[in-house]
Amino acid sequence: MGPLDTVYEGRFKSKGNIHSYEELIKNDFVKEYTPGVLFWTPKGAQLLYGVFKMFETEVLIPSGYKRAIFPKTISRETWHKSRHLDNMSSELFFLGVVNKEKHQELFSLTKKEGKTPKEEVYNKFIELTNSGYCHSVCTPIYDLFSNKKITKPIMWYDFSGVSLRNESAPKKLLRLREFHMVDAAMIGKPKDVVDVRKKLLKLYTEVFDKLELEYKFTMKKTRETPEKFEDYKAVPNLIDFEAYVPYDENWLEVGGSFLHGRLFADRFNINDVHTSCSAQGIDRWVEAIVSQNGFDFPEILAKYIE
Ligand SMILES: [Zn+2]
Repeated sequence: MGPLDTVYEGRFKSKGNIHSYEELIKNDFVKEYTPGVLFWTPKGAQLLYGVFKMFETEVLIPSGYKRAIFPKTISRETWHKSRHLDNMSSELFFLGVVNKEKHQELFSLTKKEGKTPKEEVYNKFIELTNSGYCHSVCTPIYDLFSNKKITKPIMWYDFSGVSLRNESAPKKLLRLREFHMVDAAMIGKPKDVVDVRKKLLKLYTEVFDKLELEYKFTMKKTRETPEKFEDYKAVPNLIDFEAYVPYDENWLEVGGSFLHGRLFADRFNINDVHTSCSAQGIDRWVEAIVSQNGFDFPEILAKYIE
């Protein structure tokens, strides 16, 4: 934490104290499928997509971002470059396969035993591939533009699939293994990256206020901040969006906005640009909205729920 670390607090105090997870289950929005993995019913999916569409229409499109579909199966080479393998390997999911020859062997074993083999037996047949899944949605975009010349800003967001994180202790909607995140990534000239970030924060703040939520921004400067760069001096490079969850008596990180400076541009060898990304955990937003205000959704959200 340094001198520029600050907290910005929204205007509202939480009105309710609703045990959102239990209420979402009771009112048929979600069902727990396995620990950390939920089944969203049609009613629940409307709410989840409603929150996404609200952010997409009110914030991302007006800021100049375009929807894309990012790959979710990420190679280990990419993870080496992004340093996910160094920093958070225990949170990653690695993808395994059973090859053709072993498949025959496994099949005959299954037939012989007349049931699915035990986990230990299964494990002997599975080989790791070079790929896997990671909760960080934006990583492949830096890979895509590796060694490329960027002539105009790239501003793309993705909400096309699930994000996976190997949570050791899944907890309600607060800590899921399988969740839904919208991530907006930008590659561009340093000044453009900072300007878009300002616009994005302004629009996000307007939406959070219209949701009448108790929220705050926790702002930090991290060691990656390129201090030499003039436009960065007055802005924190890392901002966490946090919403209060009354029944848990805790602040929940629901999203964030990060100026990476040259961090990923260096790692992926993209010249003359900086990068940024802003991610929102949509499941966590549902948690925050319902736990503070129940199912009486404010107009800003209600209009996106069919
Ligand atoms: Zn990101």
